[in-house]
Amino acid sequence: MRLSNKVALITGASKGIGKATALKFAKEGARVVVCDLDDAVAETVAEIKLQGGQAIGFKVDVTKSDSINAMVKGALTTYGHIDILVNNAGIVQDAQLKKMTDEQFDKVIDVNLKGTYNCTKAVVDVMLERKTGVILNASSIVGIYGNFGQTNYAASKFGVIGMAKTWARELGRHGIRVNAVCPGFIETSILQDVPEKVIRSMEERVPMGRLGKPEEIASTFAFLASDEASYINGAVIEVCGGMTL
Ligand code: NAD
Repeated sequence: MRLSNKVALITGASKGIGKATALKFAKEGARVVVCDLDDAVAETVAEIKLQGGQAIGFKVDVTKSDSINAMVKGALTTYGHIDILVNNAGIVQDAQLKKMTDEQFDKVIDVNLKGTYNCTKAVVDVMLERKTGVILNASSIVGIYGNFGQTNYAASKFGVIGMAKTWARELGRHGIRVNAVCPGFIETSILQDVPEKVIRSMEERVPMGRLGKPEEIASTFAFLASDEASYINGAVIEVCGGMTL
């Protein structure tokens, strides 16, 4: 069990990649702090307990610093420390530039970029105090290459890579590693509004001929969070079935 004795806070863990990551981390021995604004946060906690793991859940919006701070306080009261933060919560609100509204732009930046900043600010002192920690930012291949109709999302996902590299420089000497993971197209509800035709064309662009599964991103997070990745810092890891070749 690669994450024994670790406490991991995972945002956006009610479903999709975040939920798969919470379940995987618990299987690897971590005590998991499950965060999401959705009520289904309780289901993730229940599933972890059913598989014999330990977890507590918080219904928290990553754009709200006060509730994030209260969650961190609650997690520390229960588990005493936080070793791993996975900044996974993210949304899309797609439109081509000429049609994108300011509200769409601001909302995606607020959740994906500012939310990642908010959560990291809230845990960094706890990690600095113990001189150990791992911070993982969920970016996207869109955060490296851009994507049609995703000005706001691309800006946010480029941004979380920029913050990961900056924090890797600032925190590395204090025992904290920071990395970004860039999934390709993964089968989750974030793709629910993408037309079937577009999904098929995405699959055709992947040399492996299929979309990824949430568990395949969860395994990458688990590896990066573990001591097996002890010299990986400031890295940007594409997990996309070779789609960008
Ligand atoms: P998803 O929609 O299945 O899950 C996202 C979760 O985040 C949901 O449970 C949602 O309630 C939660 N969330 C949204 N806003 C929140 C907020 N303000 N505060 C707290 N929680 C919030 O999406 P997913 O596909 O599992 O995506 C997870 C991450 O991976 C996102 O950052 C996404 O951008 C990134 N990603 C996904 C894909 C993909 O193809 N699925 C590809 C690249 C990157």
